[in-house]
Amino acid sequence: MSECRLLKLLACNGYITDSQMEVIEGSREREGRHVTELLLSQGCLTHDKLEEFFSSMGIPIYDSIIQGIKTEAVASFPGEYASRYHAFPFAKEGNRLFIAMADPLDYEAIDNMEFSTKHVISAFYAKPEDVQLLINKHYGNNAAGVDVSEDDLPVRLLDSLIRTARLYNASDIHIEPNEEDVRVRFRIDGRLQEHQRSPSHLLPFLISRLKIMGGMDISEKRLPQDGHFKLNGQNGKIDFRLSTIPTIHGEKAVIRLIYDKEEFHSLDRLGFLPEDINKVRGLLLSPNGAILVTGPAGSGKTTTLSCFIRELNRNDINIVTVEDPVENIIPGVNQISINEKANLNFAGILPYILRQDPDVIMIGEIRDEKTARIAIRSAITGHLVLSTLHTSDTIGAIVRLSDMGIEKYLIADAIKGIVSQRLAGKICDNCKEEARLTPQEAGRLGLPQDAVVYHGRGCPQCYHTGYKGRIMLYEILALGPELKELLDEKSSRKEFMECLRRAGSGTLMDNGVKNLLAGNTTVAEIYKNLIY
Ligand SMILES: [Zn+2]
Repeated sequence: MSECRLLKLLACNGYITDSQMEVIEGSREREGRHVTELLLSQGCLTHDKLEEFFSSMGIPIYDSIIQGIKTEAVASFPGEYASRYHAFPFAKEGNRLFIAMADPLDYEAIDNMEFSTKHVISAFYAKPEDVQLLINKHYGNNAAGVDVSEDDLPVRLLDSLIRTARLYNASDIHIEPNEEDVRVRFRIDGRLQEHQRSPSHLLPFLISRLKIMGGMDISEKRLPQDGHFKLNGQNGKIDFRLSTIPTIHGEKAVIRLIYDKEEFHSLDRLGFLPEDINKVRGLLLSPNGAILVTGPAGSGKTTTLSCFIRELNRNDINIVTVEDPVENIIPGVNQISINEKANLNFAGILPYILRQDPDVIMIGEIRDEKTARIAIRSAITGHLVLSTLHTSDTIGAIVRLSDMGIEKYLIADAIKGIVSQRLAGKICDNCKEEARLTPQEAGRLGLPQDAVVYHGRGCPQCYHTGYKGRIMLYEILALGPELKELLDEKSSRKEFMECLRRAGSGTLMDNGVKNLLAGNTTVAEIYKNLIY
């Protein structure tokens, strides 16, 4: 028996230890059992880990519900090969056979199958027991049967979608009906990517199943609905928020996955540079005043705010938050979800919170004058107020408050600091390479034409996007006496920008260029996030 490529690669990539590799290699030769079966039965790896590994190698995962089974593929592949190579043919296109295998890295088996069948083989990974069941069922040997009833279908499909979405760290799953079929897309690191297409007849089952999970009304199909559910994961609970809307082709669903990621619990790991962490900590030391976080939707404002709250959370202070809705539960903090249906909005609940003897108040978002006024007044009267504003930069936050009718002197009095941020794609380390600037880009970014920048070429590890993970781009404005004076004199944006360069962290664009030259992100991401 030749040495096993799969075991070697698993060991090289840290999925199993060298001693586990030797043990499995030994039992494989002694018992003649399949290598993935041994890995799973001896507890060296879980199914999820094995799938993660194959995904990272660029090998697709087979699911009989999703890819289906084409009888012509079974007909053109002798049962003898199926059991010899532990492989099941599920589709055939021209000269190509699509095969589900328990070890799709067994190139020797693939070569043999290509030679014997005179077809090109595309190998997918499938659980060893699933491959065995399919072989038994379709090639006869005492069929164990893998029949899936109509009731089970949507359950299995949803399970598989959620499992894969988590594997990819997707933030959203979109289930979108169109004329021909149902398209499923994942948002990964801020980008929507098509995952698969499913037959249209499955849509009503899928939507009903989702509505049951989300505690929604399954009979109501003509109105938009919201719901949520929780599932236990390996690393704690994951919250899912559901939203459905009626489109002309049927109901479309979006499932948001809310991970409680440990790495975002600490200010040190949020993405601020070391020198800027101290600036932020300095702001959080103020006993009163307002600290605002700004940026467009999806720029990570809520994560930053909950990180600030964790930093402030102590036994001797009373922290109350009002959020839309509460996403991350923080032990020791009094968190309230707003409920527009019950008329419990930001402005409505705040007067009650003030009677709760708070030291720190976190307001999910300032959207209107009434909320802005209460926030500013609370900040002036001895509370530390944290909130977000939907503006593109720090100076925009001051302009917005002023547009809402808040007097400049009150703003100058209340605001301690403003952080503005974006999330930009981080270049995949595995396929990073140098790139050139066009003369226009160099001019726009204020860089010399020969400056070295980078991009990702695209590889299996980043699903051919060139990006893996995200980085934070930011600017911090601490309102010292100089800025407060400027504010009183109704100064121009330009004067503010200069002040930000002198006293603050530099502008968002300065931070973007710093990250560009450090090889963290690309010109395209800077354009997308910072140039408008
Ligand atoms: Zn890559």
